[in-house]
Amino acid sequence: MNASSNDATASSAKPRIAIIGYGSQGRAHALNLRDSGFDVRVGLRPGGPTSMRAQADGFEPMTPAEAAAGAELIAILTPDMVQRQLYDEVLKEAIPEGACLLFAHGLNVHYELIKPRDDLDVVLVAPKGPGALVRREYEIGRGVPCIWAVHQDRSGRAAELAKTYAGGLGGARAMLIETTFKEETETDLFGEQAVLCGGASSLVQAGFETLVEAGYQPEIAYYEVLHELKLIVDLFYEGGITRMLEFVSETAQYGDYVSGPRIIDASTKARMKEVLADIQDGSFVRRWVAEHDAGLPNYRAMKQADLDHPIEQVGRELRAKMQWLERAASADKKSASKGSPTPAKAA
Ligand code: NAD
Ligand code: MG
Repeated sequence: MNASSNDATASSAKPRIAIIGYGSQGRAHALNLRDSGFDVRVGLRPGGPTSMRAQADGFEPMTPAEAAAGAELIAILTPDMVQRQLYDEVLKEAIPEGACLLFAHGLNVHYELIKPRDDLDVVLVAPKGPGALVRREYEIGRGVPCIWAVHQDRSGRAAELAKTYAGGLGGARAMLIETTFKEETETDLFGEQAVLCGGASSLVQAGFETLVEAGYQPEIAYYEVLHELKLIVDLFYEGGITRMLEFVSETAQYGDYVSGPRIIDASTKARMKEVLADIQDGSFVRRWVAEHDAGLPNYRAMKQADLDHPIEQVGRELRAKMQWLERAASADKKSASKGSPTPAKAA
């Protein structure tokens, strides 16, 4: 700890903030907080990929250690799997005594991959949307709802600091919901595994395979089980299942009522409970940390299998003919060349 000359026990209503990482969330947080009148510094690996972007936005990026040392509130917005090493090797020493450490996802703290110093406040603020939306809504005078939590309250002001930060993001213009590190982490992992990323992509692939194996054309199958999913999800998003039922035909509704429960039945739900149990008892995260530390051999193989699935081949060809999908098509090119993630990460 090198901090005593700069006791960070927050002195003002607007703590000096260090944003570590300038990706999806980091950029949106830094810009919104600066526009809300906070003193914001950005900490990045020297020469890292997002340093130019921070400079173009008017920040003077420093190292994570320098940024943390001058701040009262330090937000760790790097990818979750690098946070442990960053904290142990750099931030643990650099963060001033009595400062507030903030996360946008509770994984590292909840599973004790990071054990924050005893003198720190430790809080969570997670906007319920990708960084681009957090920034866009702020700029038009609105906000994205945020959830917040306190893990460790040494100053007696941890909750106030979390809500001040969420307010600076614009979240208070919409809604702030209190949660816990446990609830945020476990529900986030469950959602992305069982329903959003895992559940939805496996459902689509199985539907596509079923039609193609039955002799239907892959192009027709692609439209029916993947492309049209967007129409349904947009209706869910705008008005829940109620709105979907208003917009689809009676035939589609009747098919939904009689066939949906044949696909997702009690045995599916029992397996969802197993997935949740693996998350709750820490075994999922233990496997994921071991995989990451081993250099991602299985992750890479499983990702390649998804990228090589026939629905991806036919999808690329069809999307190239739908000119309104130009932006997505450029992402296709990127992922075909290096298997990179899509630009707007949400889960
Ligand atoms: P990201 O991958 O978009 O950006 C990460 C940033 O960290 C980049 O600037 C990268 O260059 C930098 N970085 C990577 N390794 C680093 C290191 N070792 N040292 C310093 N900087 C490093 O990440 P993101 O999606 O913004 O996620 C950040 C946090 O926000 C995560 O905890 C994530 O779970 C959480 N979160 C993300 C979303 C979302 O929609 N993307 C939503 C809520 C919460
Ligand atoms: Mg998630």
